[in-house]
Amino acid sequence: MVKKVDHIGVAVKNLDETLKFYEGVLGLECGGTEVVEEQKVKVAFLPIGDTEIELLESTDEEGPISRYIEKKGEGIQHIAYRVDDIEKAIEEMKAKGIRMIDEKPRYGAGGAKIAFLHPKSTYGVLVELCERD
Ligand code: ZN
Repeated sequence: MVKKVDHIGVAVKNLDETLKFYEGVLGLECGGTEVVEEQKVKVAFLPIGDTEIELLESTDEEGPISRYIEKKGEGIQHIAYRVDDIEKAIEEMKAKGIRMIDEKPRYGAGGAKIAFLHPKSTYGVLVELCERD
């Protein structure tokens, strides 16, 4: 079903400040940044091995990452698993009784097709399915 951990999403207040830790202390390299308007976030990618850390800074006080940080503080916000065919994966999840936040895929950073599962169906973890070309 899922192939690998595509990335781990981390909610942060300030990307530039946070990058000082990931680059300066951990020695990772930022592979690029991107604004995803639909989700009101600015994203920085830090590849490591065959996965990535995805840092998410909100671009809007009402955005989902702002609201997340308000409630829970900074930290790991979601885990994304790679799938080959996201439409099929969504149908399989629904058939298995999983509640989806996204019943249809939408576009995330890097042009990936993504869909979130509801944490009520996943024992507390916000799970993202992610298909990339
Ligand atoms: Zn993600």
